[in-house]
Amino acid sequence: MNNTCVSPYQPHAPLLQPVWDYLLRHEELLLSPYLPASVAFLGHVLMCAPFLLMDVMGSRWTSIHRYKISGSREETVCLRLWLSSFLRIFWKYAVYVFPATAVLQRLRTPEMPTMAPTCWQVFWQISSCLFLFDALFYFWHDAMHRVPWLYFQVHRAHHRNTAVFAMIAQDSSASELLSLQTIAICCAVLVGCHPLSEIIFHLLNMWMAVEDHCGYDLPWALHRIVPFFGGAPFHQLHHRRFRGNYAPYFTHWDRLFGTYLEEEETP
Ligand SMILES: [Zn+2]
Ligand SMILES: [Zn+2]
Repeated sequence: MNNTCVSPYQPHAPLLQPVWDYLLRHEELLLSPYLPASVAFLGHVLMCAPFLLMDVMGSRWTSIHRYKISGSREETVCLRLWLSSFLRIFWKYAVYVFPATAVLQRLRTPEMPTMAPTCWQVFWQISSCLFLFDALFYFWHDAMHRVPWLYFQVHRAHHRNTAVFAMIAQDSSASELLSLQTIAICCAVLVGCHPLSEIIFHLLNMWMAVEDHCGYDLPWALHRIVPFFGGAPFHQLHHRRFRGNYAPYFTHWDRLFGTYLEEEETP
């Protein structure tokens, strides 16, 4: 009998039970106040690595270079640029994000159920979180561009780089980094995520932010697969024009509120 869609609170073990059992055996580590920021920082660096490697290889091989989105090509292959971006992110994590998320994690003390979620529950919980995060980010991002004080105090740091490369996904002010992490956590709480769904949501959210800033229009990228997904070309236009395309992932909010930017014609 296929038991992948049963309730996690029924005696039939869901498909993800072995994965969840493994994580529960490391519950102390899972509930560590230092884990969220450590995973967010290391995960970001690891997820950026393939794109930075492509930037290096793309400067030699046209088979890679042809996927680069037009504009800001050569300046993305700059070790000094990467290092300064890495150090800024490291500094903000060490001084602000690490202690703040540790306090938040201590205050949250999420419940750890013995049963894993079903695949269906993981799917709808993550989808709900992504749609909710996308909506909240849209209005927050739009406000940061409309209100000069918010732009200069919170968001300007993210637009410091004229070149768009994977690393700048988290190259933002400490207040922006913390606000986005708080929004992501609130989404998981509002949706009522199982901890396993929440872990996958945060990892997916990180990956999608890196992909938004990678500077490549790859055939297997999410915007080529998922309908109404903006992806790297959509977000790169935001970085180029500063106004419009405020949503991080999907395009419906920008289309609805008239902030959608059409892709530039390639000469
Ligand atoms: Zn950006
Ligand atoms: Zn912006």
